[in-house]
Amino acid sequence: MTPISMLINGERRQAEGGATFDRRNPLDGGIATTAPAATTNDAIAAVEAAHAAFAAWSQTGPGERRALLQKAAHALEARAADFVAAMARETGASAMWAGFNVHLAAGLLTEAAALTTQIGGEVIPSDVPGSLAMGIRQPAGVVLGIAPWNAPVILATRAIATPLACGNTVVLKGSELCPETHALIVDALNDAGLPPGVVNFITNAPADAGAVVEAMVAHPAVRRVNFTGSTRVGRLIAQTCAKYLKPVVLELGGKAPLVVLDDADIDAAVNAAAFGAFANSGQICMSTERIVVDAAIADEFVSKFAAKARSLPVGDPREGPVVLGSVVDASTVARCNALIDDALAKGARLVCGGRAENTLMPATVIDHVTPQMLIYREESFGPVKAVVRVKGVEEAIATANDNEFGLSSAVFGRDVARAFNVARRIESGICHVNGPTVHDEAQMPFGGVKDSGYGRFGGKAGIEAFTELRWITVQTTPRHYPF
Ligand code: NAD
Repeated sequence: MTPISMLINGERRQAEGGATFDRRNPLDGGIATTAPAATTNDAIAAVEAAHAAFAAWSQTGPGERRALLQKAAHALEARAADFVAAMARETGASAMWAGFNVHLAAGLLTEAAALTTQIGGEVIPSDVPGSLAMGIRQPAGVVLGIAPWNAPVILATRAIATPLACGNTVVLKGSELCPETHALIVDALNDAGLPPGVVNFITNAPADAGAVVEAMVAHPAVRRVNFTGSTRVGRLIAQTCAKYLKPVVLELGGKAPLVVLDDADIDAAVNAAAFGAFANSGQICMSTERIVVDAAIADEFVSKFAAKARSLPVGDPREGPVVLGSVVDASTVARCNALIDDALAKGARLVCGGRAENTLMPATVIDHVTPQMLIYREESFGPVKAVVRVKGVEEAIATANDNEFGLSSAVFGRDVARAFNVARRIESGICHVNGPTVHDEAQMPFGGVKDSGYGRFGGKAGIEAFTELRWITVQTTPRHYPF
């Protein structure tokens, strides 16, 4: 199979020495993609190309950057069919999920285009007579973006769109699990006419990730890092960034609770829970992982939720429309099966679905989950979901907060003021009242607390993350000195 290419300084390149690695389809084991296995020299070349392009790109006016980002949004949408095929091959994703990825990613580029004129500063009153003091936001330099496979188009576009809008140049490190999907994004940006070196792209063999990332973080031209992925790797990257004093945005794992209060519209809660739990087979950082239900309405909720879960079609996404495609690999199957076994051995009840034999995993609901069970705490990152029954609002809040993660959450209740007050007390970056835990919009401040990471993408919060705030003064009258 012809390997895909990296992009360094506008040139399509293979790795130094020609090394490659293969990504295999999770269902049939066939080679999905052959990709360059970058060395640390390749990674440094990508950073240096970005560094060289920074001088001119950082001086472009907002109109020029806006026009290019708008073109990139259209170029991305024009490749929708390629993304659908690549995601099905590389990650087993459904066409519905791939289409949504392209749609939201195009929205991220459009929003980034609009942000180019919103990078404001302020005039700050100075105590020095005649001093005009300003806080000015300037491009930071080279931004390294590291993105995962699970919402591949959205998350890799997010890693670079706002940084580019702010006048930075970027290096995107693609995921080993979906190198072609990530390459297609870079192709779209290239089609849009971004100057050489403004966007660079490298792929690496899984075993080289640590070395390749450290080589780039260590490079003096890299001034910001963003990482979306697991909390385990996020901690490693945080340590590397601390070593070289590089600011980093970390968007990590989640265990989103969806709280169903006793006065909830049960049908609305069921629909939100099913969407949030099973979209992309539960492989979303915002996936509904724990459904915290008031015991007063739990029987009705669980029976309706299970009926909905049972009705969701599972299958090979390359053969037709499905809701649950293949999960990304056999390790997801093993992890989810172990969570099911552990919960059932400790007294939980399997309501629908169950252990899987291969990567086509059914929607699975486990009721009567307690804190002793692994699934109560650990991210399943698959279509296996826990129902925890609680009594009253205080226990619901305590249960929702009884977790290391804190990315997304949701609360259902007809008394909206009461539900809103519950939302305010949930320890998470994001909470939706009467909406699903899975919800992202380009202009919203997206990010987590606790083990879900720190920093925010999205809208004006993204400008803060990817610019340098500088204090600049102009002395307009003679200045008085003590000597
Ligand atoms: P992962 O952490 O295993 O891998 C992500 C990236 O880390 C890859 O590019 C890989 O090359 C790199 N990496 C691996 N080892 C490394 C090392 N030692 N040093 C430096 N880099 C290294 O994550 P994944 O399995 O691809 O993604 C799934 C996880 O991502 C889940 O936990 C999910 O919740 C999380 N996620 C979070 C968000 C969010 O916005 N908060 C979004 C999507 C996914």
